[in-house]
Amino acid sequence: MGEDKVLLRVENLKMWHAMRRGLFGGVVYVRAVDGVTFSLAPGEAVSVVGESGSGKTTLGKTILRLHEPTDGKLIFKGRDITHTPEKELMWFKRETGLVQQDPYGAMPSFMTIYRILEEPLIIHKVGTKEERSEMIFKALEEVRLTPVEDFAFKYPHMLSGGQLQRVAIARALILKPSLVVADEPVSMLDASVRVEILTLMRELQEKRGISFIYITHDLSTTRYFSEWIFIMYAGHIVERARTKALLQNPLHPYTRALLAAIPDPDPENRKRFREVPPGEPPSLVNPPPGCRFAPRCPYATERCRREEPPEFEVEPDHFVKCWLYVGAR
Ligand code: SF4
Repeated sequence: MGEDKVLLRVENLKMWHAMRRGLFGGVVYVRAVDGVTFSLAPGEAVSVVGESGSGKTTLGKTILRLHEPTDGKLIFKGRDITHTPEKELMWFKRETGLVQQDPYGAMPSFMTIYRILEEPLIIHKVGTKEERSEMIFKALEEVRLTPVEDFAFKYPHMLSGGQLQRVAIARALILKPSLVVADEPVSMLDASVRVEILTLMRELQEKRGISFIYITHDLSTTRYFSEWIFIMYAGHIVERARTKALLQNPLHPYTRALLAAIPDPDPENRKRFREVPPGEPPSLVNPPPGCRFAPRCPYATERCRREEPPEFEVEPDHFVKCWLYVGAR
């Protein structure tokens, strides 16, 4: 991808959480994100898929600079923001938004919806009072909370989970950001409203040309949402490809295990993907050398247990971190 087409460049990004062991123990590091590299073009949507504890939420928050990276680089619109102090990041905060998993936990319960939407505009000194009012009503309309007057002066507890997640989307988009991270935005909602919320996010993403990072444990929801899928396991991206290529031709044994978990009426697919036994990911405190998937992998060799595989580009735009594809590089 040419540098002029890059909105976000993530280079060998690491985010290790410090953790104290026992009352008198020393500090250990949980390697939640451990060497992640990719680029995102303006207007592109990517799904980051992985099970709980894979590091996907930490990756999203580190990209938004809600965590300080331990190592690596974050380049946004050509500017290195890896270690920029918080007070110099106002421009970046205005360019980015976050939609969290639990809309009730993410909203101040004592504020009306109007005030919740007005707050980012006030912080970033956007518009006059009248202009802000116009923007708030327009934002509510865009997320289809109509008639807007019925919703604007309610408090969060007066709305359903689906309605409140629409408010969260409106808040994330109100400053017209270039990049939004949506972290499991539908996993706490009723199944009946999940598709509606995902469809709404996709529509707004396409209409406004926003780059989206959609974080989920559910591979089945990514098909219609993103141009790219990244599969995360134990702090690494183990496979990344265009959505269609990844779903039609999954290469990493872990991606195949995830696909096997999706009910598929095609018996050929079921046979093809059901290869990996269920199991726990390795500890991220001093993980053993080699491939982190080796304890569960039916193809693991001595080399896999000894050396961490690099990322191989098996076909254009299809990368996999697995020794099975060593000849592809
Ligand atoms: Fe399995 Fe080896 Fe590939 Fe890891 S590198 S996924 S252990 S074959």
